[in-house]
Amino acid sequence: MNALSLHGAVALVTGAAGGIGQAICAALRAADARVVGADLDAGRECVPCDVTDREQLEALITRTASEHGGLDVVIHAAGITRDAILWKLADEDWSAVMRVNLDAAFLLLRAAAPHLRNSSRGSVVLISSINGERGKLGQSNYAASKAGLIGLAKSAAQDLGRDGARVNVVAPGFIDTAMTQSLPTEIRQRAIAETVLGRAGRPEDVAGAVVFLCSGLAQHITGQVLRVDGGQLMA
Ligand code: NAP
Repeated sequence: MNALSLHGAVALVTGAAGGIGQAICAALRAADARVVGADLDAGRECVPCDVTDREQLEALITRTASEHGGLDVVIHAAGITRDAILWKLADEDWSAVMRVNLDAAFLLLRAAAPHLRNSSRGSVVLISSINGERGKLGQSNYAASKAGLIGLAKSAAQDLGRDGARVNVVAPGFIDTAMTQSLPTEIRQRAIAETVLGRAGRPEDVAGAVVFLCSGLAQHITGQVLRVDGGQLMA
């Protein structure tokens, strides 16, 4: 069998209507997983779920596991930015970013833990960012939330590792999606110039890393951060 196959695995993806989320769902389906995609926006093959609402999130996990007979793979790709220079960053913009990017990952992991512990191939991938590692002008909230995902993943990897479930992080660099398309041309060009491969990443580049980390090829990999950034950050 193909070593990347996720045949029969049940996967839940948040932010599934977004650029990267859609590509992850498609790649997991191509690897033969049964995928439930969730996003604010119902439709486009997504079930509706606001990840900041604990009841909605917990109900989604319970329903997915009972309808599909378990839950093996969890991907947190939902994310938002609310950029502002530090001294102008509003409380609401700090909290909104923390709730979607970081708090939801904790709620997701906690609710999914019993199912992951029961699975023979439990695997979680949290989508962070290279800006969580290096920080970024005007992104204190976003960078803090993405750095928080790394600490969360490394701790959860230890908690869940006793039962064989794995938790990893993918840290994308500049990827061409709705999140970055609205940036000024100059900022986009500067980000591309930082890469050694000389191009923006594609959502499929991120999705490939996610499938690898969930597959049998990565069965001894946990608590790791895998950058998908064309060499944008080398440290
Ligand atoms: P995107 O196209 O904006 O996708 C993000 C998705 O998350 C959107 O569909 C959004 O829905 C959804 N979402 C927002 N709030 C939510 C909530 N409360 N509940 C459920 N879903 C919610 O952006 P993307 O570029 O694909 O980003 C995906 C992930 O990659 C994010 O975590 C982002 O931080 C990370 N990332 C992206 C880049 C990049 O360069 N693009 C780089 C590093 C990391 P709505 O559109 O309806 O708001």
